[in-house]
Parts: sequence; C-alpha cells; structure tokens
Amino acid sequence: MSGPSTGWEIVVGLEVHCELQTKTKLFCACPNAFGDEPNTNVCPVCLGLPGSLPVLNEQAVELAMRIGAALHCEVRSSSFHRKNYFYPDMPKDYQISQYDQPINVGGYLELPDGSRVGIVRAHIEEDTGKTSHRGESGRIHSADYALVDYNRSGVPLVEIVTEPDIRSAAQARAFVAELRGVLVAAEASDARMEEGSLRIDANVSVRAEGTEQLGTRCEIKNLNSLRSLGLAIEHEAARQVAVIDAGGRVVQETRHWDEQGGRTVPLRSKEEAFDYRYFPEPDLVPLDPDADWKARAAAGVGMLPAERRARLAALVGSPTSQQTDQLQAAVDQGLDDLVVAAVEAGAPAGLALVRAVNELAVDLVAARALDPGSFAALLQLEESGALSPTQAKTVLATLRDAGGGDPGAIARSKGFEALAEATLEGVVRDVVDAHPDEWARYLAGDDKLAGFFTGQVMKATSGKANGKAVAGALRRLRG
Ligand code: ADP
Ligand code: MG
Ligand code: ZN
Repeated sequence: MSGPSTGWEIVVGLEVHCELQTKTKLFCACPNAFGDEPNTNVCPVCLGLPGSLPVLNEQAVELAMRIGAALHCEVRSSSFHRKNYFYPDMPKDYQISQYDQPINVGGYLELPDGSRVGIVRAHIEEDTGKTSHRGESGRIHSADYALVDYNRSGVPLVEIVTEPDIRSAAQARAFVAELRGVLVAAEASDARMEEGSLRIDANVSVRAEGTEQLGTRCEIKNLNSLRSLGLAIEHEAARQVAVIDAGGRVVQETRHWDEQGGRTVPLRSKEEAFDYRYFPEPDLVPLDPDADWKARAAAGVGMLPAERRARLAALVGSPTSQQTDQLQAAVDQGLDDLVVAAVEAGAPAGLALVRAVNELAVDLVAARALDPGSFAALLQLEESGALSPTQAKTVLATLRDAGGGDPGAIARSKGFEALAEATLEGVVRDVVDAHPDEWARYLAGDDKLAGFFTGQVMKATSGKANGKAVAGALRRLRG
C-alpha cells in the first residue's frame, strides 16, 4: 500500500522528542548516559522520592536555546508546569514540562528541496523511565510482566512541534533527516533514533485536494526509524481515506504503528490538556536568560547542513540536479570539509565532489581522515589527462587506505604513467592494424569510429588507457 488515492492530500505535523547530550540529568546530578546497567543512574530526585527538590541543569537550558537558534525560533522567558498522569515509568506521577510559556517559539526548518516547515515551539521537559514488557508475545497487553529502568527518568528532552506543513511521507522523512543533521551540528543531541534519543509522534490527517480546512487527525506514537515514519504515515492516510470513502468519519485518537502487521492500531482516545491538570511547578523559578547568554548559545551552533550545502554549491558554480544530489550526499556523509579543502588546494570542484561521493564514501572513517592535499593532487592528475578516470579511482583507493601520499608515485608504482606515454601509442597501432576496414572508414571521415577505436584500446588495456591520450594518438596516426 502506498499513499492515499488521487484527489486526496496528506497533512502531517510532527512532535519530535530529542534527548539533549548533557553530562547530567535535567533536575539532578545523575549521569545522562545510554546503555548503563539498569537503575544505576538514579537518585531521590529522579526517582520522585518525597522531599526531593529539582535543580535546573544550566547546560540543558543552553542546548535548548541552541536548538531554538538553529531553528530560527524566538528564544523567550519561560516557565515550568507539572503535567499530571499516572504511569509506572514516571515515579513522581507528573512530568515537569513547559506548557504555555515554552523557551522557543515560532521558527522554521528549510529542507534540501527548498520547502520550509514551520516550528510552533521547542520546549524543555524531562524524559520518563523506560518500560520493557516481557513475555512470549512481546505485546503490551498480553505481557507476563514489565521491567522498568529509571536511568532515563529525568533525562533532558526538547520537544519540537511542527506546524501541519508536511504534505507527504517523503517530506516527513526529509524533515527528520534534516532535523537530525541540525541537532548534531548544534551538538545538542546525538539524535540517534536507534537508541531512542530521537523519537517521533506523527499527526496525520487527509483532506480533499484543493480544500483548505484541515481534516480530523490521528496521532501515531513513538516512531523510531525513518522507515517506520514513512510507512506509518502512508498507511494511516490510506486508512483514513478508506474510512471517509466508506461514508464514515475519522475519529481523533492516538494510534500505534504495528511494524509486523504493517498498519496502525488504536491505542487510546485523544487526551485533552485538561486531562493532565497542568499547574505551575512550585519548586522551580521562571527561566529568564539574559541577552548575553542567548547570544552565547546561538554562537555555539555549528555550521548547519543547509550552510554546508550552500558552501559546496557555491564552489561548484551552478550545480546540475545530479550535482545537487551529490552535494547533499557529501554533506550527509560528512565529506564536505574534505571537498572544500581539496578545492582550496587546487582541485576542480565538480570532480572533487563526484569522486568524494562515489569513491570515498565506501569507507567514511578513512575518507574523513584523508589528506586533502593528496586528494587534490590526484584530481589534478586526472583533470590534466595524465591519469584516466579508471586509473585515478585506483590510485584514490590507495590514497584513501593510506590516509594520503603522493598520487604520482602511486600511479608510477602501478605502471600507469608508462602506459599513458610510451605503451599506449603501440597499443593504438596494434588495434588499428587489427581493424583495417574500420580504419579506412575513419580515414575517410567517419568520426564515429573514434569511439570504436577508443573502446578497443580500453579493452586491450583493461581500462587503463586515458581517453584523451587515445584520442590524441588516433589523431596523430590519421595525420
Ligand atoms: P495537541 O496540543 O493536542 O497535541 P497541537 O495543536 O499542539 O495539539 O498539535 C500537535 C501537532 O499536531 C502539531 O505538530 C500540529 O502541527 C499537528 N496537527 C494539528 N492539527 C493537525 C491536522 N488536522 N492534521 C495533521 N496534523 C495536525
Ligand atoms: Mg501533542
Ligand atoms: Zn537523579
């Protein structure tokens, strides 16, 4: 099943929870670490013991403000509320969150295709513990017992809420991929979906194409991979269209993505704000960062993926659509600094880009450590015709594995230069002698045969010949 049938438009708004990479938890000094022995990073505060008091983590506030700056939000004075509900993984029976005065409001994120998704808010809250349901079925309702790990309880989160601006599963995936890049660039979160440090709720509705009014939405909870996100949106939209087509009405509710079944299933009817009995957290004062602190936080945001793409695009000139894909890949793979440095060292930008994305990406760790000067020197040999593309790729693999080196020396050690100069002339002569009819037609002016001869020479040299050098040799023989 894919998206809804024609005539319908998908509307999606996302709520993204991201764990901040602080040293300690949001309101206590327990370590904020993933994967430790369960229930070892706990204290009276994050276990919700009576009489304990929260103390706000300064680093968490700074990282939250960085996220706000990176998403073009207004960073404001804010306050904390208690969101009351009962769940075993939340020992206080309330979660400290920001409610009507969030720290970041009103931003946007621009995607690689140029579309913009509005950000309603990005507020601070604490994470809950983690429950594992045990038993043969692996399902919540038929579990034999549940285990709770409170190491995650009180870990700082920023919840990022988008406007309902997303119009397809693909755009939702692109949004999350871009957001991940932003969070990593801002060093605010490691944004690892597989470790749960980035978790997504997708609000999905459908409406007839061309209409303005939003349809009734369902919220799909806790999607933890880009793949699940995309599939869940497509299936949920198709389900809603089927309900409406059958004369029914979509009921607003919270749903769960059943990965095995490939469908969404109802979890509970939608809670309203009043269900949570929000009230101001009496143990925390309002948060009012001064202009200096906000500026320091904004300055802590590293170069964002969009800026990195723009930097490469400027080097290339006016990128073709293929180069646009390549420069996005280079940024996604963290190879753009290498490309920029190679161009500064004299490499042609387009060639540096395509070789980085196609040849170096097979070993990213080695590629990121490659000496840009050696990379640039190799690209210059290829550009000048001293090495064929096939030879250049072979030399590049050696450079990559060695972290750098002298590409000319490597080429000589592989016998590449000898071929390019003396041997090639002989190979071309042999090929011409072996195909007298084609040669006669070439001499008579049929230029298409240049391609035929080049192909034969490539075959005879196992691709080691340089195309430009072959063309030169053919022209010389023709006289
Ligand atoms: P709540 O406070 O009940 O969670 P919000 O109005 O804050 O609801 O919206 C939560 C999320 O749902 C936001 O990301 C928003 O963009 C999205 N959303 C709201 N209405 C719709 C809709 N009709 N279709 C799709 N997404 C929606
Ligand atoms: Mg919500
Ligand atoms: Zn603690």
